[in-house]
Amino acid sequence: LTILGLESSCDDTAAAVVQQGAGGADILSSVVLGQGDLHAAFGGVVPEIAARAHAEKLDLAVRRALEDAGLALGEMDAVAVTAGPGLIGGVLAGVMLAKGLAAGAGLPLVGVNHLAAHALTPRLTDGLAYPYLMLLVSGGHCQLLEVRGPEDFTRLGGTIDDAPGEAFDKVARLLGLPQPGGPAVEREAAAGDPARVPLPRPLLDKPGCAMSFSGLKTAVLRQRDRRVAAQGGLTRGDRADLCAAFQAAVAEVLAEKTRRALAESGMPALAVAGGVAANATIRAALQRVAAEAGAAWVAPPLELCTDNAAIVAYAGAELYRAGRRDGPELAARPRWPLDDRSPALVGGGR
Ligand code: ATP
Ligand code: FE
Repeated sequence: LTILGLESSCDDTAAAVVQQGAGGADILSSVVLGQGDLHAAFGGVVPEIAARAHAEKLDLAVRRALEDAGLALGEMDAVAVTAGPGLIGGVLAGVMLAKGLAAGAGLPLVGVNHLAAHALTPRLTDGLAYPYLMLLVSGGHCQLLEVRGPEDFTRLGGTIDDAPGEAFDKVARLLGLPQPGGPAVEREAAAGDPARVPLPRPLLDKPGCAMSFSGLKTAVLRQRDRRVAAQGGLTRGDRADLCAAFQAAVAEVLAEKTRRALAESGMPALAVAGGVAANATIRAALQRVAAEAGAAWVAPPLELCTDNAAIVAYAGAELYRAGRRDGPELAARPRWPLDDRSPALVGGGR
């Protein structure tokens, strides 16, 4: 099964070709055209600019992906595309192009939930068997999921406010560090001592798997202001300590809630995905949780943890095998909860 995948739900324009067979899956090509430079001046992703850039560059991404794979569109078995959730202008651009490509080449179309694509990544990279526990932690999402099939997800918990990546980005802004904030905060934290800055562990005293990260960011703001008021500014060491303490707090909350979810669900394996899973301290904390629970541990390579189209093509392959076929009525959905079983084509604007 050879699938072309398209991804345009946030600020990466991506296309990829994945071949899936009995022996596993191979990524034949994966092209990611980032838009970071377009949004840098605005301190965040601007939906209008993102949509326009996707519309302009998707074509190029697809051409390159086919070229890199050494295959023609007609040699694909299907076209898979992220149909949501995400910034609607970008999702629409991807869905429209996918419809055109599928119709033009007479290929079936498969609409993929972007979160499902992240959640299935450990199957693409490591052939992980169902079921498993997935911690999806990115700039826009934070959820603990029981994964039992390409359309069978049960949400055990997640954030009630900001996603951890968003919190990393905001903390970076508070401390005058560049975006994306995650890598910048992690770099600074390496020289810091987390014990020098007391920060809360939100919702850790409450049972269950609910998490919260926006209060943590506010606590960092207060600790920063206290230092600025006392000394007239932040030293390099202060900044490092604040970053280290924030990172340690996020890691502890994620690890403890994941430990509970593993115990509650009895899942035999723990996997992560999403940009925040790139963080070495967070990865190490989660790996310890898996080891202590006797669960297998899968952390896909970083370039497949963040947004790309190989994971969309792969999810499309699994859905195709499960019999899913979408037609020209496939809708782009800004919201599309993973445990919502209704297919993309029923939706629109949920
Ligand atoms: P989503 O995929 O949920 O729509 P997104 O596209 O923003 O959201 P990703 O591309 O998966 O998410 O991840 C980007 C986020 O990951 C950013 O918020 C970034 O700060 C964070 N991140 C990246 N590297 C690190 C790191 N080393 N430590 C912590 N956070 C990180
Ligand atoms: Fe994503």
